[in-house]
Amino acid sequence: MASESKAPLLDQLESGPWPSFVQDIKMAAKRKPTTMDLLNVLELSYKEKIGHWKHGGIVGVMGYGGGVIGRYSDRPDLFPGVKDFHTIRVNMPTGWFYTSEALRKICDIWDKFGSGMTNFHGSTGDIILLGTETDKLQPCFDALSEAGFDLGGSGSDLRTPSACCGMARCEWACYDNMQVCYDMTQKYQMELHRPMWPYKFKIKCSGCPNDCVAAIARADCSIIGTWKDEIQVNPDEVAKYVKNGLDLQADVANLCPTKCITVKGKELKIDNENCTRCMHCINVMPKALKPGKERGATLLIGAKAPILMGARLSSVVIPFIPAKDLQPPYDFLTDFLERMWEWWDENGKFRERIGELLDRVGMRMFLKDMGIEPVPQMIKQPRTNPFVFWWPEEVDGKGAE
Ligand code: SF4
Ligand code: SF4
Repeated sequence: MASESKAPLLDQLESGPWPSFVQDIKMAAKRKPTTMDLLNVLELSYKEKIGHWKHGGIVGVMGYGGGVIGRYSDRPDLFPGVKDFHTIRVNMPTGWFYTSEALRKICDIWDKFGSGMTNFHGSTGDIILLGTETDKLQPCFDALSEAGFDLGGSGSDLRTPSACCGMARCEWACYDNMQVCYDMTQKYQMELHRPMWPYKFKIKCSGCPNDCVAAIARADCSIIGTWKDEIQVNPDEVAKYVKNGLDLQADVANLCPTKCITVKGKELKIDNENCTRCMHCINVMPKALKPGKERGATLLIGAKAPILMGARLSSVVIPFIPAKDLQPPYDFLTDFLERMWEWWDENGKFRERIGELLDRVGMRMFLKDMGIEPVPQMIKQPRTNPFVFWWPEEVDGKGAE
């Protein structure tokens, strides 16, 4: 088993000015020499231009269908240190708030049962513990449970829901997105730990349209805070920005995507009916402008990152859910989620995300089956109208033309 790098190609990655994962792995290997085989197997892949991990594999802990991603080397003869090198996904705290004590606990457990290498955090948001052997999985999970942690999602299940820090730190949060995320995580434990669908399903909750968890680009269901009434303007603070050198026309009005801001001297006027809630003006003048008072969230579905069929952004399905309806017992939200899962499960093909299903059968099918009326906010861009249509029975008894 190698305790030294035999990876001259990878060693070169340490020579630049940037932090290098090669350096990180070598540091980890000082404490766990077997980890050096991780570098050496990668070097072989660089030389041969093929991967040396066998995909997946059934491996896990008692009672769970997900949360552990099996990794086996196809050259255990050459790299015994990583012959099995499984990844454990741990459900992160909502909003990624930790105490130092909790972090130390996770690190101590991982030093004891795994490689000591971590990834804070994976793209879904989980704590990723990189590399352990099959017989260490159960004791590692038991220790994590003892410390108050649980596994995250993997495979064709509900992936660990995630949320920005919302009302805990951010004045712009339009609903309590951390609470929604936490409560959905607790309610859907079965869906999170037992793969049961055509493919993965991600829920992400952002407090405002700045969308700091990138829900609109990555979540099958995005719940993004917004407001219905007018942006709150404090004219005295606007004047102060101008006095301090802000060019209202160039820095604010000209960059408004719908050009709905008019500037007169030290004042600005917003035509709220044409505001798309992009947050630009509020981000530039946080002391002068605030989201409106009638707050809630927009629900969108169908985003995914580019793996099988290319990237896809979410589409609006429910333009506005008042913040009061995004509180326990969440009847509206849970009814929507469960009916949507049913529809996807019924119609989706193996490994078809809900967004891909929408591309295949059309949003209009989804809206019809869910009993949702098309509304103007669903239109993707002016003068295109992808979802509004007439069914034969609606056209004067004549049938569709
Ligand atoms: Fe704040 Fe909005 Fe970002 Fe959440 S999405 S952290 S509420 S700016
Ligand atoms: Fe314009 Fe965006 Fe400000 Fe609305 S939030 S007024 S669209 S810059």
